[in-house]
Amino acid sequence: YLFSVTPIRGKERNLLGIVLLLRDVTRLKEVERLKSEFVMAASHELRTPLTSMGMSIDLLLEHAAHGLAEKDRELLFAAHEEVHRMKALVNDLLDLSKIEAGRIDLEFESVPVQILFENVQTVFKGQLEKEQVVLKLELPRDLPHIRADANKITWVLTNLVSNALRYVDKGGNIQLMAGRMGPYIHLSVQDDGPGIPQEYQTKIFEKFVQVKGQESGGTGLGLAICKEIVRAHGGAIWVESVPGQGSTFTFTVPVVQ
Ligand code: ADP
Repeated sequence: YLFSVTPIRGKERNLLGIVLLLRDVTRLKEVERLKSEFVMAASHELRTPLTSMGMSIDLLLEHAAHGLAEKDRELLFAAHEEVHRMKALVNDLLDLSKIEAGRIDLEFESVPVQILFENVQTVFKGQLEKEQVVLKLELPRDLPHIRADANKITWVLTNLVSNALRYVDKGGNIQLMAGRMGPYIHLSVQDDGPGIPQEYQTKIFEKFVQVKGQESGGTGLGLAICKEIVRAHGGAIWVESVPGQGSTFTFTVPVVQ
């Protein structure tokens, strides 16, 4: 049940009574669950044909493209790009619907934040060098370990850094930071990119929301997935940003007891 309470007051602000509104959301929850199940089934079915289409096009590009006219090769390359974009979308939809349907199994362990940061640094090493972006780590000593599924939290960090990389200019800066906040560790990814307007700062964590004029060519699902993963860990995620001065995405994860 969802419930809300509204006090009813008289002329002298004296309490006359209250209105208690109880809403049975069982059906709503069931509809949500069915929706997630459907998206999960559909994206699962779409994955196999998309993978074989992608492989066929890749093979054609590798072996037969030199025999094709320039225009035909361009058409084939456009198909290749679209299939890969669709595969990314279908994979993201599948991940998100699984999480929404409560079908993610988190394997909790005691994880040192330093290892997570170093893994992320390794993953992006090549791309950072190519785009001349500096990735700095700022980590206090003796930070307690977090209680987390290392793969899933790495996914969140990787997604945030990959977003940051899309938005910073050549020669820009990204910083990974962490600190303790009571029973939580907060982890942040800061960039000096274009920033995010105030009216979008909560909305971008919803599915398919992208900042107008700042779409990245991505699926618009990344931050929604991050939010669900963080929530499943018992934490929260938010962004602080001043347009023109960059963005800082922060999320919290409980420390190991
Ligand atoms: P996608 O990146 O696939 O579009 P996301 O859910 O990861 O989807 O991000 C949603 C939107 O939030 C992006 O399209 C972009 O407009 C905005 N955004 C995300 N990260 C940043 C960032 N570091 N700097 C500026 N805008 C960002």
